Amino acid sequence: MKKLKVNQLGPWCGFCEPKTNRATHVGYGFNGFACEEHKPELKADEQKDDGYMSEGDYQSWDRL
Ligand SMILES: [Zn+2]
Repeated sequence: MKKLKVNQLGPWCGFCEPKTNRATHVGYGFNGFACEEHKPELKADEQKDDGYMSEGDYQSWDRL
């Protein structure tokens, strides 16, 4: 997770109600955006992705 520049008008927080809060942080690999309040959720998402295949990954493997 890294902090977005303050003067950068960023995307919306992915955890708040749509279009309520601008994101202040972005996940590694741009997997999501979070406001100050939702940093823990974004971090949890990052860790969840580590070493695990998502549902979509499994489905694409099935098609091979
Ligand atoms: Zn938020």
